[in-house]
Amino acid sequence: MQKKGLLIVVSGPSGAGKGTVLAHTVANYSNLKYSVSVTTRAPREGEIDGVNYFFKSVDEFNQMVEKEEFLEYKCVYGNYYGTPKANVQSQIDKGFDVVLEIDTQGALDVKNAYPDSVMIFITPSKRSTIEQRLRGRCTDSEEQIIKRTQSAVDEIKQAVFYDYIVVNEDAQQGAMDIVAIIEAEKCKVKNNKKFIDNLIYGGK
Ligand code: 5GP
Repeated sequence: MQKKGLLIVVSGPSGAGKGTVLAHTVANYSNLKYSVSVTTRAPREGEIDGVNYFFKSVDEFNQMVEKEEFLEYKCVYGNYYGTPKANVQSQIDKGFDVVLEIDTQGALDVKNAYPDSVMIFITPSKRSTIEQRLRGRCTDSEEQIIKRTQSAVDEIKQAVFYDYIVVNEDAQQGAMDIVAIIEAEKCKVKNNKKFIDNLIYGGK
């Protein structure tokens, strides 16, 4: 029988480098599928519809809410973001690991709905890096930079509800840390009960 995959939830303050770390992780770990969220925020330069996000109008987003198409959804920094239900469970059932990159409020909803999900918090080692990275990427308005920098401390306070913390100073190293976490989770006894039963009760 195909073993079920893991649901991995990644959060962290804006400017933590979550997207870059996860891009490296997915490139290095073929069993991991990135769940593309839906958002009402405008695309940044270089972002591709269906790859980074599914970009929708507020009306379209509300229709998806009404049809109960989201696993969770939240308003973050003034825009709506949601995790589409479609694919997440089916990929897990097929044995793929699925990663959601979502904010700390949505992450708690997912943890309640899927208590076995693996919660990873990504942060830089210093708070000052957050503003430097937001300014450095030149994609956000001044208003957004202020909103996101001010929210960072509140978001970091939520790290205590997560299972793991990854300090992102180097995206490649951050990705290696995430792969190590996934491998360790797969070795957990609670995730191998059927295998153990089979060793005991199956044939020689
Ligand atoms: P950004 O606009 O920088 O791409 O994302 C802003 C915030 O929204 C980040 O904290 C990101 O993790 C979060 N986010 C992205 N997709 C989702 C989602 O589907 N649900 C929730 N709750 N947050 C999301």
